[in-house]
Formats: sequence, C-alpha cells, structure tokens
Amino acid sequence: METVERFKKFTSPDRRTACVNWIGAKAGRGYGVFAIDGKQVYAHRFAYEMAKGPIPYGLEIDHLCRNPACVNPDHLEAVTHAENMRRSTAVAAARASAALIRFCPKGHEYTAENTRMHNGKRSCRKCSAQAAKEYDARNRDVRAAKARDRRAAARQALGMAE
Ligand SMILES: [Zn+2]
Ligand SMILES: [Zn+2]
Repeated sequence: METVERFKKFTSPDRRTACVNWIGAKAGRGYGVFAIDGKQVYAHRFAYEMAKGPIPYGLEIDHLCRNPACVNPDHLEAVTHAENMRRSTAVAAARASAALIRFCPKGHEYTAENTRMHNGKRSCRKCSAQAAKEYDARNRDVRAAKARDRRAAARQALGMAE
C-alpha cells in the first residue's frame, strides 16, 4: 500500500475543530507515531513534509491548534525551538492563570452550578441571567416610550389638550 494511503487510514477529521486527529499509535506526549520502512516517525512531521516539503534543518513543528494528535498541515508551523518553547510556556501560563481565577469579573464564584462552558471558555450564569434581565428592562422602557409617543400623537390628532 502507498505510504500516504496507509497514513490516511490512521486519521480522523474533526469537523468542529478542523483538526485531523491521529488515531494510530501515539508517543508519550500525545504525538502520533507512524512507521515507515520499519522506522518510527512523528505523524505530524510526516504530514507537514507531505504537504509543505522538508522541515528546514533545526526547526520544530508547532501545533497552532495545541492538539498534539492533530496532523492537519494547516495547523502546523515550522518554528525554532526557542519560539516553540515561548509559545508553549505562554499557553501553559494562560491556562494556569485561568485555573486560578475562581470568581467572575463581578465577583460571583465559578462553582459547578454557576459555570457554563462556551467555546472552551467559562461564563458566569448569574451574570448572564442579570444581563438578560437588564436587556428586558431596557426593552420595556423603549416599548413604554413608544406607547407614550403614540398616545400623544393620537391626542394631538384629535385636537385634545395635554
Ligand atoms: Zn489541529
Ligand atoms: Zn458573575
């Protein structure tokens, strides 16, 4: 079988994230591994080289999607080791600080009941409920003002004094 066809058998596209997940063997950190002529290669490096050509000497492949099992070449970028480290440290720091934040900007605690996940981000149920209420109240004012204007116009049309 052609190497590329054999490779494709181990992949499964995720329509939601556009990641192409490796479903074959994986190495320690979640990277896919693929055997070519009895040699193990990283699946994402293989995917990159098939799509974009040889990885420049000394460069590493960074997963822009932060999904180590992904082999979608569009999610892969060849970067220096320093850049790769800088990026993964930045992501780890962002995750760590997000995990440390236990209260929403208005001070409601992120408990299991009060937390809703949306696109991988937390949102506060109390705040959403409050925002919905305020939206309603604003609309009520607008509706009331319109009704007042209509009544005034009707009175004027009928020649009635205020
Ligand atoms: Zn991806
Ligand atoms: Zn809140």
